[in-house]
Amino acid sequence: MTTLTMPAVDSPRLMPVYPHLPFEPVAGEGVWLTTRDGRRLLDFYGGHAVALLGYGHPRLLAALAEQAQTLFFQSNITPLAVRSRAAEALAAFAPRHLSQVFLVNSGAEANENALRIALRKTGRSKVVAIEGAFHGRTAAAAAVTAGAGRWYGFPQMPFEVDFLPRNDEAAIDELVTEEVAAVIAEPVQGQAGAYVLDPGFLAALRDRTRLVGACLIFDEVQCGMGRTGEPFAAQLMGVTPDLLTVAKGLAGGFPAGAVLARPEWLDFLAPGDLGTTFGGGPLACALIETVLAVIQEEGLLARVRRLSSRLKSECRVGPVVAVQGEGFLLGLRTSRPAKQVVLELIERGVLAGGAADPHIVRLLPPLVLEDEHVDVLVDALAGLRA
Ligand code: PLP
Repeated sequence: MTTLTMPAVDSPRLMPVYPHLPFEPVAGEGVWLTTRDGRRLLDFYGGHAVALLGYGHPRLLAALAEQAQTLFFQSNITPLAVRSRAAEALAAFAPRHLSQVFLVNSGAEANENALRIALRKTGRSKVVAIEGAFHGRTAAAAAVTAGAGRWYGFPQMPFEVDFLPRNDEAAIDELVTEEVAAVIAEPVQGQAGAYVLDPGFLAALRDRTRLVGACLIFDEVQCGMGRTGEPFAAQLMGVTPDLLTVAKGLAGGFPAGAVLARPEWLDFLAPGDLGTTFGGGPLACALIETVLAVIQEEGLLARVRRLSSRLKSECRVGPVVAVQGEGFLLGLRTSRPAKQVVLELIERGVLAGGAADPHIVRLLPPLVLEDEHVDVLVDALAGLRA
């Protein structure tokens, strides 16, 4: 039984919509958090995959300070060199052909715009998503999220949605027809619990969407930005979509998202067709440019691949019976409810996450993780009852 209790730090003015973990972080350095009561926690969760370079990376702090002192904000109605550089760097990191970039603020906003592009370009009104998917909480993003019917919260869906069973190639032809505007998929499903979609299933979706003139959208909000050990999961799977969405770690913790697109999907666009006030602001762009440079210059993709294989082979101890996922988006399958295991890990100084699957503990560590941190996690898991 865990003895942890929740510190009473939140103002009653805040809407009570989040259950809280039993600690308040007050500082972070590298992959370590310090809590209000003076404990240290090794962060294998990164604020839902956002702290891509951990906390206090000197190059991120310098880029933020320099941009803040130079020009704090201007919107998309002015050209900005820093925005152009961020877009160039992101397109260069992304799969070939995804050469067009629209910068936004969050994952849901990226998906909302990707779906808008697909529906407008095709003139169709049906979307196919994958069972277990999570795409965000705005109207279109929530409509393609699994369980939308239960918690969607709007009186009607903005378009018709069908859900395709995960990795069920035989079901593709029946559901993905000439009425479908888009198929949206997370190549590695995050919130579901690090469920990997088969490369063969994704390739079959690629072939079928091309045949029926539908748009293939990869939501890489959680699995992109180097997290699988390749720049994007699209490269890992060898399948290039028409549109790809990214957010979370894109700017290392500063709100930022993006839609990447093949140019042929944008030929109908005119000025004013997409818009956002904060998206593509100079602070976010300076950080996007820096995050991409750090990933490449510090060799972080190779590090993810190497440490991920250690995690996959060594974490099968204590209550962990299997490990799934790719790179640094891993799901530890637990013999006991994952919620219990997460709380017991916190007591032992390690922060991990849960998932929609109640028997999955999710690991989303910063890409700057080191061998010694893997040791700490493995020791903590080994100390827990099976
Ligand atoms: N898409 C995926 C795959 C996600 O995991 C999330 C958030 O967890 C989102 C979209 C929504 O992103 P945001 O919370 O930034 O709107």
